[in-house]
Amino acid sequence: MTQEFVVHKSVIHGKGVFALRDFKPGEIVIHWDTTRQISRAQFDQLPENEKAFIATYKGKLIVQQAPAKFVNHSCDPNTRVKNFCDTAIKPIKKGDEITTDYRDDPGSELDMSCNCQTQNCTGRIKGKKQTV
Ligand SMILES: [Zn+2]
Repeated sequence: MTQEFVVHKSVIHGKGVFALRDFKPGEIVIHWDTTRQISRAQFDQLPENEKAFIATYKGKLIVQQAPAKFVNHSCDPNTRVKNFCDTAIKPIKKGDEITTDYRDDPGSELDMSCNCQTQNCTGRIKGKKQTV
């Protein structure tokens, strides 16, 4: 399979994931690697900086692997999580950074500042903190 994205430095935060080809809305961009899962008790013991790499989806706590773990938050994202895949919700051009909305994560306890620089930016990413 040809490489469809590359990980390098992002203006949003740290490293980001960038498309190496165009994606149409509805196309799967990144398949999550869901082989590493942890329990809620294990999650509670993790240091804060590692909690950021845990995705909660459909009641599972998934330790995100590269490249999915490098996908940055945007308040105006170009992908959404669907069946453990980051799926394009708008046309993505080659070279665009792949972004998702962390606030969609139902178990998210995030509270961090946002630097996505989109028009919709709220300046802060705050999880909904629902129970999973
Ligand atoms: Zn933002």
